[in-house]
Amino acid sequence: MSLTKRSWAEPFKIKMVELLKMTTPEQREKAIKEAGYNTFLLKSEDVYIDLLTDSGTSAMSDQQWSGLMLGDEAYAGSKNFYTLEKAVKKFYGYKHLIPTHQGRGAENILSQVMIKKGDIVPGNMYFTTTRLHQELAGGTFVDVIIDEAHDSENLHPFKGNIDLNKLQALIKKHGAKKIPYVCVAVTVNLAGGQPVSMQNLKELRALTQEHGIKIMLDMTRIAENAYFIQQHEKGYAKKSIAAIVKEICSYTDGATFSGKKDALVNIGGFLAVNDQDIFEEASNLVVVYEGLHTYGGLAGRDMEAMAIGIEESVQDEHMKARIGQVLYLGEKMQEAEIPIVLPIGGHGIFIDAKRFLPHLKQDQFPAQTLAAALYIDSGVRTMERGIVSAGRNAKTGDHYYPKLELVRLTIPRRVYTQAHMDVIAESVERVYQDRKKIRGLKMVYEPKYLRFFQARFSKL
Ligand SMILES: *Cc1c(COP(=O)(O)O)cnc(C)c1O
Repeated sequence: MSLTKRSWAEPFKIKMVELLKMTTPEQREKAIKEAGYNTFLLKSEDVYIDLLTDSGTSAMSDQQWSGLMLGDEAYAGSKNFYTLEKAVKKFYGYKHLIPTHQGRGAENILSQVMIKKGDIVPGNMYFTTTRLHQELAGGTFVDVIIDEAHDSENLHPFKGNIDLNKLQALIKKHGAKKIPYVCVAVTVNLAGGQPVSMQNLKELRALTQEHGIKIMLDMTRIAENAYFIQQHEKGYAKKSIAAIVKEICSYTDGATFSGKKDALVNIGGFLAVNDQDIFEEASNLVVVYEGLHTYGGLAGRDMEAMAIGIEESVQDEHMKARIGQVLYLGEKMQEAEIPIVLPIGGHGIFIDAKRFLPHLKQDQFPAQTLAAALYIDSGVRTMERGIVSAGRNAKTGDHYYPKLELVRLTIPRRVYTQAHMDVIAESVERVYQDRKKIRGLKMVYEPKYLRFFQARFSKL
């Protein structure tokens, strides 16, 4: 027998485990009913495999846990700040670091320092908190992602790319002075974890330089983006994730970062910039919102764990297993002909609920319905990204009807095994087999803001 396929396995072994409560379908039926068919309102202890988010849900390594013991909890000039500063310089190349309690803290500071009332901030698809901070600072977000990103079946390998023609038109229309920076997310969360190519970044750098516009990265999942460049972009197959990460940063002027994703910690973030003036203003402002510029709302121990996590996140073996696990789950679903967003992205699988439950109208909440059905089947918790998340038009009072009606299965890093992935895929398949029996939902309670978190539903 010739061995053509060689399997990969996780580059770690398990030292400590967290026991999970096993529930029966009857218990889950009751729990989801009590939660108003909203997975956000389930108690975590009633969940078997939790795919609600990859944010702050990673497993830390023994090195990171021992880093916690090295916490220097001095108010000013903590040792751990300097360790983190060194890591940011070494792995990302930015000159100045300002720690923040998490990513949105950095977004707030950056937006306030750089955006003036009436400014335009182009970006590759919005992220909820990023856009809100840009708006609160008086700016207007404009989406300049390539059109392919909005099509769940388009196989473009770098669906996160910026459409330079759209950007050029925007510069022409408003003038470069109105555009403080382009906000580039790597990878693009709301497009399904889709990466940006290095070529696109280089071209963007050339165009923005011509006009004196800065580039600020949302580098929350930069190592995941680097993996896609290594795998799919010409000339990068032999480069390390670490080298690619640093090259990405080299085309930009600064970044906001949520440590809760790539960097394998449960809390933390930062703002990093090269420009001395921006740094000075930002380190002044951080005192108002987060804390002194050498801790920014974090304990010393948190900064230590994040510094170690950054180094672990750019290891090739780590990233191969991280994305490998997501691909493994995605490929199982493809084999079962489950409609999912393609190409498979970096941090999770997105099921196309419109194609999964074609007999439901969009205002019967197909993705919300499917998330509840999956929970009842196996105790797997997923999240709606469709009409409920999109909210209502403030003027007309009608629902927004987004093109993409998705259920997101986000994979925490280093937390679940391949056997868990099998259980998830089998549960999705089982629900798919019985999909014709699934009835929709009606909304019985609707909060005013970000309704997906707290809305309640009942069965139709
Ligand atoms: C999570 C996230 C943020 C915000 O970071 P927090 O740490 O949750 O505040 C910003 N951008 C992207 C792309 C994210 O995924």
